[in-house]
Amino acid sequence: MRTTIERRDLGARDVLIEITYAGICHSDIHTVRGDWGAVPYPLTVGHEIVGHVTEVGAEVTRHAVGDRVGVGCMVNSCRECENCRAGQEQYCLPGNVGTYASVDRDGTVTQGGYSTHIVVDQDFVLRVPDAIPHEAVAPLLCAGITTYSPLAHWNAGPGTKVAVVGMGGLGHMAVKIAVAMGAEVTVLSQTLGKKDDGLRFGAEHYHATSDPVTFEALANTFDLIINTVSAPIDVDAYLGLLRLDGTLVNVGAPPEPLPVRVFALFNNRRSFAGSSIGGIAETQQMLDFCAEHGIAPEVEVIGAEAVNDAYERVLSSDVRYRFVIDIDSLR
Ligand SMILES: [Zn+2]
Ligand SMILES: [Zn+2]
Repeated sequence: MRTTIERRDLGARDVLIEITYAGICHSDIHTVRGDWGAVPYPLTVGHEIVGHVTEVGAEVTRHAVGDRVGVGCMVNSCRECENCRAGQEQYCLPGNVGTYASVDRDGTVTQGGYSTHIVVDQDFVLRVPDAIPHEAVAPLLCAGITTYSPLAHWNAGPGTKVAVVGMGGLGHMAVKIAVAMGAEVTVLSQTLGKKDDGLRFGAEHYHATSDPVTFEALANTFDLIINTVSAPIDVDAYLGLLRLDGTLVNVGAPPEPLPVRVFALFNNRRSFAGSSIGGIAETQQMLDFCAEHGIAPEVEVIGAEAVNDAYERVLSSDVRYRFVIDIDSLR
């Protein structure tokens, strides 16, 4: 449904962005369907945003009119807590201000990127390097940083074996980034349907999780497993794939609790962890890394009228690999 939303007047430290593309993230779908709790309707979602600066406030120094910029999953934080001071604004203790469905500093509910314009504090606006193709930028702001951050934190690199569970929007970025970091990458997907793509993105191995032999053959193998699936998984089965001191990191977000057998953690001193997007400095680092290594998401560009159909296709895993809305179709 098309509607009109109000953006706040440009403050001294704000940037006005004319949006060109917005990615469709699984979180958008969970949110609009109420999977994660009550929703402050009416709501515009979208937290993978790219566009150009068209106006800046009087005190803005980081961005200029005409710059190509991006906005991801958060648009502000308290800036004072321990985590904000450590550059981990995504873990702001009082809670970061999400790009949509959060209460903004002026008391209004934030509205996301499926829209023509957005006003954002300059500190939460990212510079987009020229090397990244324009229509492919947006998914980096959520899918890219969500996978880059744990890969960097748990030291994916030469000599490490990384498994990526799920080959969707997040999974395909995890593969490309881990390969660029120098890790030996294995994809664990329900079927072998996307094997050719996985190998093209640089994975060395590709296994079907629907085949029980996979879990026997790969026992005690990986240093790091990035689980991108947002449906429940058999955690114990995946923990069994970790070698000594290995970590299973969840970045997909199933609404249900996941049971874990503690003995599966004792073996090999394994860890079961979670990770949420990344800080602003790290998000900039990720964009620069992707530009430097020539990596970008695989996208299918759609008009705004096709969003509902796109949601159905995301839910049935029928997207290779991220839908991006051409915001010109809203103008
Ligand atoms: Zn997202
Ligand atoms: Zn904070």
